Amino acid sequence: MAQPKVVIVGAGPGGLAAALQAAKAGAQVTIIEKQAAVGGRTSTLHQDGFKFDLGPTFFLYPRVLEEIFASLNLDLWSEVPMKRLDPQYRVSFGAGGHLDATPNIAEMEQQIAQLAPQDVGGLSRYMSDNRVKLQRFRPILESPFQRLSDLMRLRFLPAVRWLRPWRSLADELGTYFSDPRLMIAFSFQSKYLGMSPFKCPSLFSILSFLEYEHGVFHPYGGCGQVSQRMADIARQMGVDIRLSESVTGFEFRGRRPVAVQTDAGQYACDSVVINADFAEAMRTMVPDHLRRRWTDSQLAKKKFSCSTFMLYLGIRGSYDQLPHHSIHIAKDYAKNLREIEQDFVLPEDPSFYVQNAGVTDSSLAPAGCSGLYVLVPVPHQKLNDETGGIQWDEATRQRFRARTLEQLKQIGVEDIEQRIITEKMITPADWQSDYSIYRGATFNLAHGLDQMLHLRPHNRFEDLDGVYLVGGGTHPGSGLPVIYESSRITCKQMLPDLGLDCQFIHRAQAGQGRSTQSGAGANTSNGSSTTSVQGLAPGHTPQADTVDCASPVAVTKSGPTNKALVSS
Ligand SMILES: Cc1cc2nc3c(=O)[nH]c(=O)nc-3n(C[C@H](O)[C@H](O)[C@H](O)COP(=O)(O)OP(=O)(O)OC[C@H]3O[C@@H](n4cnc5c(N)ncnc54)[C@H](O)[C@@H]3O)c2cc1C
Repeated sequence: MAQPKVVIVGAGPGGLAAALQAAKAGAQVTIIEKQAAVGGRTSTLHQDGFKFDLGPTFFLYPRVLEEIFASLNLDLWSEVPMKRLDPQYRVSFGAGGHLDATPNIAEMEQQIAQLAPQDVGGLSRYMSDNRVKLQRFRPILESPFQRLSDLMRLRFLPAVRWLRPWRSLADELGTYFSDPRLMIAFSFQSKYLGMSPFKCPSLFSILSFLEYEHGVFHPYGGCGQVSQRMADIARQMGVDIRLSESVTGFEFRGRRPVAVQTDAGQYACDSVVINADFAEAMRTMVPDHLRRRWTDSQLAKKKFSCSTFMLYLGIRGSYDQLPHHSIHIAKDYAKNLREIEQDFVLPEDPSFYVQNAGVTDSSLAPAGCSGLYVLVPVPHQKLNDETGGIQWDEATRQRFRARTLEQLKQIGVEDIEQRIITEKMITPADWQSDYSIYRGATFNLAHGLDQMLHLRPHNRFEDLDGVYLVGGGTHPGSGLPVIYESSRITCKQMLPDLGLDCQFIHRAQAGQGRSTQSGAGANTSNGSSTTSVQGLAPGHTPQADTVDCASPVAVTKSGPTNKALVSS
């Protein structure tokens, strides 16, 4: 094949990461992005001199992106300067008390001794158990799942017993902590997946472990800056990024797209990578009759994550006592979650999250000002034919804005209203209409065991030929580290399908790429990155005998020990 043409629908973090690796392998890559800027939900909102992260603010487990950069002969830490936060965040409880979460476990135990003396020792046990759990699970998170039998592969068997399908995340945490506040402090992270800890599978206890063990990072300029840098590098590698252009569909030959259609034209392709929200992309881009498993009626029966109500507030002055990240848990958390997931009503006493990034990063607001990002988990949008649901009309928007600002008093933000200079609000209806997210479910398909692994839409998409998925809607799931991981899994399938080499991905994953600074210790200073990507010219090295790059065993056989698979 001449240089294969890969068209990527969407410049979210998954699409950008896939573009970098496909370009490195030698493909001719075009990204088509509907918005005027790159990054998708991980982009930067610019307003009146303020910069806000649109979505992600917690940059966790940099290891995956670090390895992807290493596979391109780049160093993540100099390309995207970041600071490891300590304390990572404050979690305050409507039921009383708070914790300043720190990776210093001894200090954490002291705080636990004050809050719930009977639970001292639980944290150390939790950390050592989850260290093993993550080690067992990594091969699963790093591998494709096309069918049930994939889960039965020998190397996955040690992990299967950790799945504990009968146990929720909340029940799992209950085996370490008897105080409900501690159970919540180590399980609210399921909200990163848009799920209640009472429903979320127990395997996700690794989420809070990742924070304590591997750090919570703030990329200078915000998480959107990571996307921006990835796009700059992609352009330098020859990727054509077309902004403000919307994919409307595909020209199919059978089930294989041979061209991508947009509102501006048509692009011939050998492979398509869909990074746009999975369910919305299916609904709007692929005719229903061509789909086998993921038809509109099947999608309507799936479970979706919660949504978020957002306020981005540019304010006069700053709240210097407010930590970088604050999470406030409603007094009756179980009721709060029921309102969101079962009753589909706006919470009366909502839990919420506030980012006050100005205490770490002065580049985000004009002098003398600072920005607050406020996120409230709320129900996603029901389908039109379902009764009930929330109509986000102007009166509802203003009522919930007022309730949210009132809630901020619980974390000491008393006088916000008169300090607001500029603001933006995003409701679930806006996520759906302006950001093309099915039902406004910001964290995609829910992450129950019935919608994970081989039961999630496959990275090599099962309903069509030559189509691959990347991002939160495919395996392994939502959240930046696993979204970046999805790009590796996808590329390790797509590149050999196109006759391209993907061993550079395996080599970096096995620690054989450019040596980089340890993620856990990184605490770099602010500064702009000017690293050139000369020498990254795509090396097209098609393999005569294409190996199954999706199988890490291939690498283990051909190279030295695959560290990525044997160490945590
Ligand atoms: C409010 C919020 C907070 C979050 N917080 C965190 C966090 O702290 N940490 C974390 O790890 N994760 C977080 N996430 C989850 C997740 O990391 C992000 O949502 C992430 O950006 C999802 O990446 P993605 O690659 O799946 O695609 P997206 O970011 O959704 O990008 C998809 C892209 O496709 C484009 N697109 C859609 N339709 C078309 C079309 N027809 N034509 C062309 N382009 C199209 C979109 O415009 C978009 O740019 C958060 C998400 C949200 C919404």
